[in-house]
Amino acid sequence: MDKIKIEKLTVFGNHGVYPEENVLGQKFLVSLVMHTDTRKAGMNDDLECSINYGDVSRYVKQFFEENTFKLIERVAEKLAESLLLRYSLLEKVDVKIEKPWAPIAIPVESVGVEISRGWHKTYIALGSNMGDKKGYLDEAVEKLKNHSLCQVGKVADYIQTEPYGGVEQDVFLNSALELRTLLLPEELLALLNQIEAETGRERTIHWGPRTLDLDILFYDDCIIDTPSLTVPHIDLQNRDFVLLPMAQIAPYYRHPVLGYTIGQLLDQLKKMEVSDDRAQ
Ligand code: ATP
Ligand code: CA
Ligand code: CA
Repeated sequence: MDKIKIEKLTVFGNHGVYPEENVLGQKFLVSLVMHTDTRKAGMNDDLECSINYGDVSRYVKQFFEENTFKLIERVAEKLAESLLLRYSLLEKVDVKIEKPWAPIAIPVESVGVEISRGWHKTYIALGSNMGDKKGYLDEAVEKLKNHSLCQVGKVADYIQTEPYGGVEQDVFLNSALELRTLLLPEELLALLNQIEAETGRERTIHWGPRTLDLDILFYDDCIIDTPSLTVPHIDLQNRDFVLLPMAQIAPYYRHPVLGYTIGQLLDQLKKMEVSDDRAQ
């Protein structure tokens, strides 16, 4: 992706762990690499199609003046987040913050942190088979829409499906949605768990009845295998109640491990179901 850079913008702020830093303030050097597509601005010669670095610089100055944090890690984190939320054309930003006057009592040119933050494209599966199923799915969509670090894209039609996994229970209502987020995978999982809990979900029987189930299907092209998280979702290729809604909103999305698109996975699953029926 193209980049717009600002190097060593000099700003004053009161950030620091020591009280004198909070009172006296000190100089900070801020460098930004803004990852954005500059092609349109390059073709049209129109600033409206790009990110105005003058505006960004003034905003950074104001940000430093209006906030006080202890750690430059925190300054960098909040600055990256504010920039990504403020400039819609910004996909990713590298933020470097240096403190040339850091009070460490040993001569040093500068100390600093450098971080990289950006938007992530994810797909979430939704399911409910207890109580007001449509109400629970609507509530989940609404809560994600209202979250400051999430943007909901396409939402698939809700479809009724048969239960999966051998437990005798009511039919499901399922859907899938596209989510752009600044949250990291574990943070997104925590948010989904929180939304599930808010609908009164209790984890009793595995694959048993639930008011709301929210699973991360994909997170960019990431492959994650930790005790709490497997992404892409380990079983999505075997579930028509996941593939059908996904095929509606992202038929050409390619599974980063299996190498097939959602449409192809759905075709394969349908063929397997037909051959299973014949074998019976
Ligand atoms: P399944 O994962 O087969 O759809 P389930 O959704 O009924 O089953 P839950 O009881 O909702 O299972 O979740 C069990 C655990 O699965 C969660 O606590 C979570 O840590 C873990 N998990 C692993 N990968 C994912 C993922 N991609 N999305 C959501 N949860 C996941
Ligand atoms: Ca699930
Ligand atoms: Ca789940």
